[in-house]
Amino acid sequence: MDAIVKPLARDLQAEHDDSRPDRSEVESALRTIIRWTGDDPDRPGLLETPARVTRAFEEYFAGYRQDPALLLQKTFEEIEGYDEMIVLGGIPFESHCEHHLAPIIGRAWVAYVPRGRVVGISKLARVVDAYAKRLQIQEKMTAQIADTIERVLQPQGVGVIIKATHHCMTTRGVHKPGTELVTSRMLGCFRDNPVSRHEFLAVAH
Ligand code: ZN
Repeated sequence: MDAIVKPLARDLQAEHDDSRPDRSEVESALRTIIRWTGDDPDRPGLLETPARVTRAFEEYFAGYRQDPALLLQKTFEEIEGYDEMIVLGGIPFESHCEHHLAPIIGRAWVAYVPRGRVVGISKLARVVDAYAKRLQIQEKMTAQIADTIERVLQPQGVGVIIKATHHCMTTRGVHKPGTELVTSRMLGCFRDNPVSRHEFLAVAH
């Protein structure tokens, strides 16, 4: 019995980061923010808010507990020599900017040209989410998605295009609703071969 329990306990310990603040510290910080706005964290409408926001943050930032490379480990090799572009387009995501913690709401187009093996298409969407659910800047997120696919699948090429609205720009600061930031990263044949590149850009238009 001991032999089974001990390794499990060690695994859990490894996952638990001692420097990570616990839930009550986060809730207390949120009470401080509510007080700072001028409101009263003890009034009935706000009493449960710190706990709710903490749970929401857990969801917004779930990506820190995922390893995007691991999501791409399982591949299929029986693809009958398929070596054309595979595109998953218009993948919706929600992220948060690392400068203001404001939402970044957008869509991603992820394409690759396989070299002998492919992944289940839902895995591409999961990689997008694993990076989106962190504190981000769009440029970095675009590069992270492309670089991870390149590194793990070693395809002939990878292309990632992201179009997103940044709430730190639409609801505050310069207040420009309707603006969209477009970023892209092209690797391998998407960078070197204008035909692949244009084919992808046409799909993502
Ligand atoms: Zn921002």
